[in-house]
Amino acid sequence: MEGLMMNRSLKIADILDFASSNFPKGEIVSVRTEGDIHRTTYRETAKRTAQLARGLNGLGMERGDRIATLAWNGYRHLELYYAISGIGSVCHTINPRLSAEQMLYIVHHAKDRLLFTDVTFVPLLQKLAPQFPKDMRIVAMTDRAHMPTAEGLELLCYEDLLDGQPDQFDWPDLAENTAAGLCYTSGTTGNPKGTLYTHRSTVLHALMAGITLPNVLREGRRILPVVPLFHVNAWGLPYAAPLTGASLIFPGPKLDGKSLFDLMDQEKVYSAWGVPTVWLGLLGQIRAEGRNPDGFGDVVVGGSAAPRSMIEAFEKTGVNVCHAWGMTEMSPIGTQGNLPVELSDLPLDKRVEAKSSQGRRVFGVELKITDDDGNRLPHDGKSPGNLFVRGNTITCGYFEDEGANNEAFDAEGWFKTGDVATIDENGFLLITDRAKDLIKSGGEWISSLDLENVVMSHPGVASCAVIAVPHEKWTERPLLVVQAAAGAEAPREELIEMLSRHFAKWQLPDDVVYVDSLPLTATGKVSKLTLRQQFAEHEMPEVSLG
Ligand code: ADP
Repeated sequence: MEGLMMNRSLKIADILDFASSNFPKGEIVSVRTEGDIHRTTYRETAKRTAQLARGLNGLGMERGDRIATLAWNGYRHLELYYAISGIGSVCHTINPRLSAEQMLYIVHHAKDRLLFTDVTFVPLLQKLAPQFPKDMRIVAMTDRAHMPTAEGLELLCYEDLLDGQPDQFDWPDLAENTAAGLCYTSGTTGNPKGTLYTHRSTVLHALMAGITLPNVLREGRRILPVVPLFHVNAWGLPYAAPLTGASLIFPGPKLDGKSLFDLMDQEKVYSAWGVPTVWLGLLGQIRAEGRNPDGFGDVVVGGSAAPRSMIEAFEKTGVNVCHAWGMTEMSPIGTQGNLPVELSDLPLDKRVEAKSSQGRRVFGVELKITDDDGNRLPHDGKSPGNLFVRGNTITCGYFEDEGANNEAFDAEGWFKTGDVATIDENGFLLITDRAKDLIKSGGEWISSLDLENVVMSHPGVASCAVIAVPHEKWTERPLLVVQAAAGAEAPREELIEMLSRHFAKWQLPDDVVYVDSLPLTATGKVSKLTLRQQFAEHEMPEVSLG
């Protein structure tokens, strides 16, 4: 028997409509590429989004059309999110740090009809333009006064699209499974793969984030998405913030420690979200200033494992760390590490220990771990296995990519994350490693993350990575790559001695190499793939593993 309740589609446009009526003064602050700080509200944004939607229709954009953005975090990018999905088109966010080859691949694969770009990327586009789809038009996200000269590029002006348009729009009634957003993973091997979000998955994800992080996602809170709008929709903040009345502070292109500190201080940011590499810079600045930015109380760290030393450094200064895990294919949030009430008063060292896990699953995301034959493993905190996920905010297939889809799901339809993890009896997930980053030494696994966690606690280490180097006898052996902190030293003997207090001899790195900086992926994480290629021929010293 069916129930008797109204069945209204979950639609993204309703989020901004809600924010406009309930939180009209909720702020959006943007550091603009023009150089100044821009302030607006959810009410104003709703009006401009309506104008932009009309502008898009005027350019002939229709339902299902893919419209790309190549832009930093800012209010115009947010307007595009809502206007594009609102008219039934698909907002395809492009990561500007992708290689030219990957960028061209995804523009063609997505069949983008229109590309919105920050003016900073115009020189890049001038180079790529001859290889773009012939009928794709480009819009510079600025006003007439700041339009760049761009020989060889025919540019439309963003503000011209809005000028003179009525600021009301009748958003079409879209079925909730209509595609709304498209985001390609950076693809460490092979071509990038596209995750195609729906209105339904996006609204559910925003609701789920809101109930999961009620201390952050609520009216009056000021949130800084350092995570870019092109990295899995800034982890859902453009939807969860307006839904809950939190304000958004967009940092623009400058993400170094000092720029972030000053902006957070000035704008009284309460919660900041981003990958660990960004927080290394901020922590350096906090140390230099001898204080936290005014009002700073919470940091969400995700995208790769938060080192224990980083969690400790924040928690020591009274900043709550929420260590979250997820994937592009998961919208992205899978688990979050805020502690249960009964653990929140633990002494610092215990709290840091507990927060080093990736936390518990959010509502709507199911987790399972299996052995290589697909048999489920117990949630005992001891048995590492391949991690699979299932839920309404998780992809059911990559965009037009049969080859990738054949590998991505198991027989029961669960999505294979590529991560290896344990889950304990209370549901805490601990990522052991990415399967491809585990070091397979003589039939045993060595977790690169575990080793890195210890090395990162040495005061002379700014950043580090442990990678597998091919080995004749043992298949692979660990190599520790260290970036020393400015003006500090992290001698090899000290690092190995530190590690040997925690690990068996066969688990220790055979060698330590020092680099000026570690290579980063397009999403700002340490690129172990690049390091593995760089050190593939590295000659390891003979060490006895006994
Ligand atoms: P890309 O690597 O292309 O940016 P994703 O952002 O989707 O793509 O990366 C997802 C992967 O990042 C996960 O499968 C996992 O390996 C890693 N990851 C994300 N968050 C964490 C975390 N908190 N701890 C450990 N690994 C993480």
